Parts: sequence; structure tokens; C-alpha cells
Amino acid sequence: MRITVLGCWGPYPRAGGACSGYLVSDGGVNVMLEAGSGALSRLMEHINFRSLDAVIVTHLHHDHYLDLFPLRHALEGARKDGSRDKPVKLFIPPRPGGEFSLLSSYNEAFKVKAIDTLIEEKIAGGFTVQRLDIGGLAVRFVPTKHLLPGYSVSFEGTSKFVFSSDTARTDELVALAAGADLFLCEASGLDSDAGHMEGAHLTARQAGEVGRAAGVRRLLITHFWPEYDPAELGAQAAAGFGGPVTAVREGQTYIYTPIANEG
Ligand SMILES: [Zn+2]
Ligand SMILES: [Zn+2]
Repeated sequence: MRITVLGCWGPYPRAGGACSGYLVSDGGVNVMLEAGSGALSRLMEHINFRSLDAVIVTHLHHDHYLDLFPLRHALEGARKDGSRDKPVKLFIPPRPGGEFSLLSSYNEAFKVKAIDTLIEEKIAGGFTVQRLDIGGLAVRFVPTKHLLPGYSVSFEGTSKFVFSSDTARTDELVALAAGADLFLCEASGLDSDAGHMEGAHLTARQAGEVGRAAGVRRLLITHFWPEYDPAELGAQAAAGFGGPVTAVREGQTYIYTPIANEG
């Protein structure tokens, strides 16, 4: 499984950068995860947008979904010129209802499905998840604790990748991320931000602590406030994790590589 970072900034980008966007590729399946401003242009540097199998947006904050609007026009054009024959499956939360209805109305471009209507499944710890299959990828969602309804999401194919989305720590996220090969977690602030982020976001150190509690193999941090130094966030995340942490960079692709089996 390959995770390509299209954008890593929130809630606005650095000069030349983009807000949240990731391309998840596995076994010939391509999923755009988040579509913040600037992410579509970056996606097209890696794949043809016509070959997207699905788009998942974890919550309807602007820094996670604004590029659905230009993607709509790209897809409508592709339907008209015959270069793509079907709308792209788009999975989003059902609220806020106004945004959901608007996106659902673009039915030439998107086949919208509310994440809460997917089939339910139990995972270890007794938590209920929403389950979706895209080709050989099993995708599972648990609710976040954030300012808007949203979901943390896991992808299981040739390896296990988990994305926190924007959220305070939840038991569901720790359970979903258990044993992940790659865990991409928001790290929106420094220790000094813990007070005002409480109940809505994770600081870098808290991201590390979630990764440690879940026993993930590799921790990647993202969703950086542009004024902050990702290296400083990385150091606090590493202290919480108790091991090395990677602050992601735009344009980079991350792959989980198992440690070579000795003997
Ligand atoms: Zn955000
Ligand atoms: Zn948010």
C-alpha cells in the first residue's frame, strides 16, 4: 500500500502548499482521501483523476473538502467527452445537511453515500464500525470527537493503514489503529496548545501517545498549522510515541516496509 501526501496543512496552506489530501493506492485501487484546497492539482501529478475508484472525505470542514468543487467539474467534463463513463463514488458524513445535499446534487460527477449508512461490523474491543469494500481494500470508519461529525478510517489490503482525521483521542481510534503498519495522525499543536485543543484535536504528543497505545509500527504526523515547525511537532510526537516519528512532506509517498526477517 502506498500513501502519497497531496497536502498536509490545516486550516490554511503554506505558500505553494495544499490542505489535507492523500492518495491511497493498493492493488490497482486508487482512493483520494480528503480533498482540501490544492489537493486535486497535486493528485493529478500522480494519477489521472479519471481513474479514481473512490473519494472519501472524513468531515466537511473546508480544509478537507473544498477541492470536491473543482473535481466535480473535472469529472463532469470527463463524462461529456467520454473519457469516464461513471460518477465517482464519494463517501462523506451526512452532516452538515446543507453541504451533504449540495454535494449529492452533483450526480453527474459523484455517487454520494453517507458513511453512517454503510454496513456495521464489530471490531476488537466491542466497538461498532462502518464497513466498506473498494476492490480488495477493506475500509472501516469510527466516529471522531471533533467540531463537526466525522470519522477516523482504516484501510486493510496488502498492509494496514489508519488515518485519524481531525479528532481528540477516542477509545474507538485506539482500537481501529491497533497494530497498524502505518498510522497517519493529525498533530495540530504543541504541548502549549493542549488546553484550547481539548475535545477537538490532538497535539503532536497526544498523537504519539495514541500511536503507542495502539501499538502501531510506524507513526506519520500531519495537519500542521502553517506557522509551526513540523520538526518541533515531530520531536514532541516522538516523545509521546517512544520511538521515531515522521512529519510528512507534500509530494512524498510512504510505504510500510516490514523489518527483514532475520535468518
Ligand atoms: Zn482540518
Ligand atoms: Zn476539522
